[in-house]
Amino acid sequence: MITIHEALRSPLRRICRLGLLLGAMTALVPSGSAAQNLIGRSVLLWANRWTYQLENTYSTPWCGTQSTRTRVSNLIQNQPTDQYSGTVQKRYISDTCYNNTYGYSNYTDWWEWSIPTSRGRVGSHHGVSVTGQDPGPFPGMLMPWGLSQGTTHTKTVLDVTQTHSFSLYTEIKIKHTVPSALPAGSYGIKFKAGATGYTWNELLWDWVATPVPPTSIYVAGQALNCNGEAYVTFGPGDFSVTPSLSANYDYYEFWITAQPTEDYLRSRAYHINFATDPGFPARLPYYTDSDGCLPDDAAPPVTVPSGAPTNHPSRSAPYFTDAVPVGLEAIIYNSPYGSVFSGVEYFNIELQEALDVLLFQTTAYMNIKQVNSIAVAGQPADNVKGVSRRGLNTTIIAVSLATLSTWFHETAHCKGLEHRATTQNSGVDQLVALMTGQGSTGVSTELNRQERNVLTGGL
Ligand SMILES: [Zn+2]
Repeated sequence: MITIHEALRSPLRRICRLGLLLGAMTALVPSGSAAQNLIGRSVLLWANRWTYQLENTYSTPWCGTQSTRTRVSNLIQNQPTDQYSGTVQKRYISDTCYNNTYGYSNYTDWWEWSIPTSRGRVGSHHGVSVTGQDPGPFPGMLMPWGLSQGTTHTKTVLDVTQTHSFSLYTEIKIKHTVPSALPAGSYGIKFKAGATGYTWNELLWDWVATPVPPTSIYVAGQALNCNGEAYVTFGPGDFSVTPSLSANYDYYEFWITAQPTEDYLRSRAYHINFATDPGFPARLPYYTDSDGCLPDDAAPPVTVPSGAPTNHPSRSAPYFTDAVPVGLEAIIYNSPYGSVFSGVEYFNIELQEALDVLLFQTTAYMNIKQVNSIAVAGQPADNVKGVSRRGLNTTIIAVSLATLSTWFHETAHCKGLEHRATTQNSGVDQLVALMTGQGSTGVSTELNRQERNVLTGGL
């Protein structure tokens, strides 16, 4: 109890601290719940509201009913930086046989949150009033994140009737902070979640746990994929993201983590010889999984032998051929074109030197330069849609040929990806791959696990 006030200074630590007091919460507040990316978007998950009730009764015709009940009433934290408010009560009611032997016992201990700020006891114990006594420090309890409709189960054996009532409600919210430097709009957040469903077994007189398949779990209305992930876009603000299920259980417990996807800011400029602005895609969001979900454990990392030919069977392993969602978004903004590159040799590029000058012009205000055509290194002008060089944050786009997939493809080069079936990229070259070396087209959309890890560090 002593360190609680210290812990209050950090919202995240405070949840952990509260969870520690309440029982099993520490494991449910994952380290990934607060994360930042390069441009400084951040997310924070917290339990905005918690309600919990557990009551067990034991009744006989000759002694009446005894009952123990734990109730948490609307433990609320409106903002992650607020304190929790609410009350925890534990009530004990003895049956008449106990009362006749030891004296009337019916009392309630309560702790008022936050911290708790106050506590007390009301009622009688062994025939003596205990109102005003100190119930002692909060004893701690198991209060998971979960949801139930509220259930009561009853059984009677040889005149003895038992009931077990349980209800649980947790609302999880996410706070999404978007710096004003970013354009207005929605941005990607990657969620991971899992759930365990519980059904009551009358014979065991206990709950039976069942793991819930990820595809039956929904976050913000979106089903998780087979790896328990969902990519959802949100604008700035607070949103409810309590996982829901398509499967039916008496109640379920869940965990959830969130992190912003990666924002990749790119400036763009166009050659002044264009009569009108050739335009540009302002956003390139990459979350697609175009070939169905393959569980991560079904596609372990594969090593392609050194010097393996481009058609070596190892390159066709699922690890390299299964498309995975990638939490990356390129945000492209308009900027002026450098006037020293206004010559026609930079409009219809035919000399390697001109191309190199533009490529190595890494000025922050023109990461992407739009020219009319590129015909270098023996390539005819009707073949080159765009040029990037790994390790340089620059791209040349040939407006006469480039498609949207060209922008994605070149962006991936700038993030460090080489074409498929090369030293740096082990996958077999397929036209459906974004990083095909055959010239990306509208169908070239797939990124594999190895490519995802290069682009986003695993996001
Ligand atoms: Zn390429």
